[in-house]
Amino acid sequence: MPLYVYQCRRCEVRTEVLQRRLDTPCEAVCETCGSADLERVFSAFATYRSELDRLRELDPKYYARVDQAMANTRDADPMRHLNRMMPFDSAREPGERIKF
Ligand SMILES: [Zn+2]
Repeated sequence: MPLYVYQCRRCEVRTEVLQRRLDTPCEAVCETCGSADLERVFSAFATYRSELDRLRELDPKYYARVDQAMANTRDADPMRHLNRMMPFDSAREPGERIKF
C-alpha cells in the first residue's frame, strides 16, 4: 500500500497516510489539530534506510542517555549477583544421586 504525505492547511503539519488508491478521497485527518482539510504533498524522491542506517544517524547524546538510564537499574550493579554466590568450600554435599 503506498504511503502519501498530506499537509494540513490549518496548521501546516505534514501527516503520512497509507492509502489503497490515489483516486479515492482521503479520509485522513491532521495528527496535530484534527482538521480534515489536508492537501497532498509531492515529494521529490524516496530512499530506503535500514534500521542500522537510522541508528547511525542518531544523536550521540542519545547513547549517553541510554547508558545513564541503564546504569540506574538494579541489574547494573554487579554486586547484586556476586552477593548471591557461595564459595565452593562452604557448599553442602550434593546429596544422593537422582534416579532416572
Ligand atoms: Zn493540522
